[in-house]
Amino acid sequence: MKTKRVSLLLLALLFTTAAAIAQQQSAQLEPSAARLQQHISYLASDALNGRRTGTQGANDAAHYIAGEFARLGLRPAIQKAGPSRRLSVAIQQYLQSFPYVAGVGLGKGNELTVTNTADSFHSGDDWMPLGFSSNARVEGGAAFVGFGITASELKHDDYAGGLANGRLAIALQGTPDGENPHGQFARFEGVRWKAIAARNAGAKALIVIAREATFKDDRLAKLSYDNSAGDAGLPVIVISRQSADQILKLSASSLSTLEEGSTGKKPNTNRLLAGQMTLTTDVVREEVEAYNVIGVLEGSDRLLKNETIIVGAHYDHLGTGGEGSLAPRSGEIHHGADDNASGTAGVLELARLFTSQRIKPKRTIVFMCFGGEEEGLLGSNYYVNHPTTPLANTVAMINMDMIGRMKDRKLIIGGVGTAKEWRELVASSNTAQGVKITATAGTATPSGMPVVVGSNGRPIMTVDSSKTFDLTLQEDGYGPSDHSSFYAKQVPVLFFWTGTHNDYHKPSDTFDKINYTDEARVLSLVARIVRDLDNADKRVTYTVAKSDSQQGRSTGFRVYLGTIPNYSDSNDGLLLDGVRDDSPASKAGLKPGDKIVKIGNRDVKNVYDYTYALGEMKAGEEYPIEVMRGGEKLTLKIKPEARK
Ligand SMILES: [Zn+2]
Repeated sequence: MKTKRVSLLLLALLFTTAAAIAQQQSAQLEPSAARLQQHISYLASDALNGRRTGTQGANDAAHYIAGEFARLGLRPAIQKAGPSRRLSVAIQQYLQSFPYVAGVGLGKGNELTVTNTADSFHSGDDWMPLGFSSNARVEGGAAFVGFGITASELKHDDYAGGLANGRLAIALQGTPDGENPHGQFARFEGVRWKAIAARNAGAKALIVIAREATFKDDRLAKLSYDNSAGDAGLPVIVISRQSADQILKLSASSLSTLEEGSTGKKPNTNRLLAGQMTLTTDVVREEVEAYNVIGVLEGSDRLLKNETIIVGAHYDHLGTGGEGSLAPRSGEIHHGADDNASGTAGVLELARLFTSQRIKPKRTIVFMCFGGEEEGLLGSNYYVNHPTTPLANTVAMINMDMIGRMKDRKLIIGGVGTAKEWRELVASSNTAQGVKITATAGTATPSGMPVVVGSNGRPIMTVDSSKTFDLTLQEDGYGPSDHSSFYAKQVPVLFFWTGTHNDYHKPSDTFDKINYTDEARVLSLVARIVRDLDNADKRVTYTVAKSDSQQGRSTGFRVYLGTIPNYSDSNDGLLLDGVRDDSPASKAGLKPGDKIVKIGNRDVKNVYDYTYALGEMKAGEEYPIEVMRGGEKLTLKIKPEARK
């Protein structure tokens, strides 16, 4: 069903290929700005609706990429069925599917009643479970808990005195900081954190009161799933202001009184409430398949073809907003031209170059486009745990994410610390030394620049060898894109990007803003590096990179452990993809593959619990940390370091 819509397009593509390829071969050995524009303007078009993983738009993009791979003659990496004449089946063979929660819906079992109020409250109109709520039935008294925040370092605990233990906790949204987004409580604002605080305090459920007067306008009332870390471990719902008022009136109080009291100006108004509540939550998760697209160019050397070089990029984006979006409101198509139609087009262009060159590569080159990147590297993570060729034979992974907005020839290359040879290889490719320039008729490029031919007589694909890039090299192999998944498995990686910009993660990241000429130049550089990798007698040597991220860029935490969490769904602990060298985690004896289940006295079920626990730790103090390793539970001791 999913393939039907595109099969006509594929049909057209496949039937125009063979002859056309042969005809064009000689003139096709450079990255082409025009082709990049073709790919990007389609991938970033309204038709694909922002390519959110699990949606038709993302699947259409996957089929487009697979169609291109087929057209170029790449071998499909996934052999689901035998040979088939049906195009849809042929296309399927390029798709590696991985499970994905595309959305959540209201089940039939949702129910909320409160004794001494007239009727039951209606799910959807009066209240709504949150996407990460557990499904359960709970009964008991209720307690009003202010903002529902426990922040030991700020000496603030809305659950002091075991107020909500064994009860349903009712909390306001926001923090005592009020409207100040940079206040000291800012990082406790998320409902995920509040749910953990409620669970830690022994509450049976967390009920958050809506901010908006019209319930349906409230951000939390739009049932959605954040795809990050499983369910909260207790029912979590949002309730309309009107319904909250009805419940509070049983205790001779009102919402406005409690809201005033919670700003900290008046005495704490946390209290037990009258009435018994019965709450049943029923959230239905819709699991769909999502895809990586993988095509193989077989190596030509009898022995070296067993080694693979992966050239990859993610093709998914943010759909019409929501999680990850930086747009003020959701609903608009996030086009994702730079992020990451640019990298996807790069993979397609490189696949075209390497399949059309006369001399075949010695090693096997695998072209790979990932889904689920924006939700936390889900696709690449799935791949490294289900590789189509053994990871031990993977020489290197080259990742391109956002390579379309070059300014002033500035290019950032990450991962140069992940193999001994990278710096030298990158530098020599950037200067393109040791080449002679031939400018014979028939080899001129569309821009009129001569084709550069290596001393071995093979073209080295560059549009302009006189100017090189202004490179910023970063050591770390971990970073906010798919190469991270590979580095975590000890594969040397390089990560190419042209930097961030004002349209990042906004609807305005559109195809007309791409710098196509410079993207083609970036691809020339990547092609040179892949070629050097391929031509070398020996594969590059994996090394452990220095970490750039100890400064605590994104987390804002005061302590540092040096763990690399796995961001896929989990509910039974936090799986570690990696542990940084010389970090508190490695000193504690933590290893990749360990599952953290407890830190200090805090249970850890997922990455949120983990982050929460991290927020409570103090540098230099020793904490017990429990991990599962190969079915065994170990208790280690960890001493966090202060962030620099
Ligand atoms: Zn992104």
